[in-house]
Amino acid sequence: MAVPARKTSKTRKRLRRTHYKLQAASLSACPNCGELRRPHRVCPSCGYYDGKEVVKVK
Ligand SMILES: [Zn+2]
Repeated sequence: MAVPARKTSKTRKRLRRTHYKLQAASLSACPNCGELRRPHRVCPSCGYYDGKEVVKVK
């Protein structure tokens, strides 16, 4: 339920926000080259996705 902003003290607000933090990006090994890459993305080191080379890597 909504609470008027002035009823939430600075301490309450700051205590609540101590739980807001960034998470490290998840990584998994590429099945083609074994390099770590983010899931559901083209591998940045070999350019493979779903077993095919979709991007040429120089
Ligand atoms: Zn790869």
